[in-house]
Amino acid sequence: MDRRLVILGSTGSIGTQTLEIADANPDLKIVALAAGKNVKRMEEQVRKYRPSYCVMWDEAAAGDLRNRIADTDTKVLSGMEGLLFISSLDEYDILVTAIVGMIGIRPTIAALEKGKTIALANKETLVTAGHIIMPLSRSMNAPILPVDSEHSAIFQSMQGMPKDRVEKIILTASGGPFRGKSRSQLANIRVEDALKHPNWTMGRKITIDSATLVNKGLEMIEAKWLFDVNLDQIHVLIHPQSILHSAVQYKDGGIMGQMGVPDMKLPIQYAIFYPDRREMDTPRVDFETLGAMTFEKPDEETFLGLPMARKASAIGGSMPSVFNAANERAVALFLERKIRFLEIYDLIEASMENHKAVANPTVEQILEAEKETYEFIEGIVPCL
Ligand code: NDP
Repeated sequence: MDRRLVILGSTGSIGTQTLEIADANPDLKIVALAAGKNVKRMEEQVRKYRPSYCVMWDEAAAGDLRNRIADTDTKVLSGMEGLLFISSLDEYDILVTAIVGMIGIRPTIAALEKGKTIALANKETLVTAGHIIMPLSRSMNAPILPVDSEHSAIFQSMQGMPKDRVEKIILTASGGPFRGKSRSQLANIRVEDALKHPNWTMGRKITIDSATLVNKGLEMIEAKWLFDVNLDQIHVLIHPQSILHSAVQYKDGGIMGQMGVPDMKLPIQYAIFYPDRREMDTPRVDFETLGAMTFEKPDEETFLGLPMARKASAIGGSMPSVFNAANERAVALFLERKIRFLEIYDLIEASMENHKAVANPTVEQILEAEKETYEFIEGIVPCL
């Protein structure tokens, strides 16, 4: 049976890999695509996949695209209105949310309200609005299937297992390019160094988040919502080879984990064809060549992403939104070479201290917390 997809963030790292999966599986149909402003790549995608709709967030980019693809039948929309329109369409089955940032919240809600299945890569949605998204998913019987490799591994390790017998979740992390370095060694890290991830090829923002371990912090909060566990049941474990993608320990001491080569296509494909495990032409793990898999405790004195995420989650309400928004802006400033690597932590900490958390925030209050954080950072960055 055909599966019809809407892909938010089709020009990005996860989006393009999702389309490669569609190339290998002709029963996947592309109904709509959305991106920010990469008109050139979107034009290529429209010509190849012929979606009914495509959305460019940027109004000028949408205008440009309209001219470029005037000879096709694809209708071009723009902005949040466009994202909400394609997420609410009747004629599709799975929403792949692979955009960056809190912009993913409202389209996800719109899709859940229509009872659609969500293949979720955009972790910011659950980090900031998990208290809205998860109850809605349950009440609409609209499943959220994780695309993040760790969450997919946890989800796979829970298949056929009694949920109430979970003792702890073992969330693995590669440790990023700076594992083993001290704070003083991190002081003068260059953008180029931080963008060199040892095992995974990903978008720029998430690559920096891996280097600071903020990504793992966001993943902890995401896992808490997805699997309905307490934060203290989630144990982060550094595993530099990135072969064990995460695991679940049950109350009898048994551990179920999922292994494979570090390749996002597997979790993306698993989410799209769940519960099937379709054939896929990716490299296999060769344990004999691999030789050893090693594990170590994360260095939380140096990499503050984990303790800061735990604090944000413990305070709860709108605080995880501030943690996420401050990080988003700080990473952008680092990539623009306006702040140093360790100042990413300083900006997150200052923003969290500045914010008075709102309990059970509405989407508007979440977006308000984001705006307040951006304004706060704009006010303090010139003084750094
Ligand atoms: P990329 O930066 O590679 O891609 C982001 C995509 O989102 C692009 O298509 C971009 O369009 C689009 N986009 C950005 N802003 C908007 C907007 N306002 N409206 C519509 N589209 C927009 O990111 P990744 O693919 O790396 O990550 C996507 C999400 O998946 C993130 O939340 C990330 O944390 C998560 N994730 C990523 C993993 C990975 O391996 N990459 C692993 C696990 C999770 P344009 O090209 O036009 O800018």
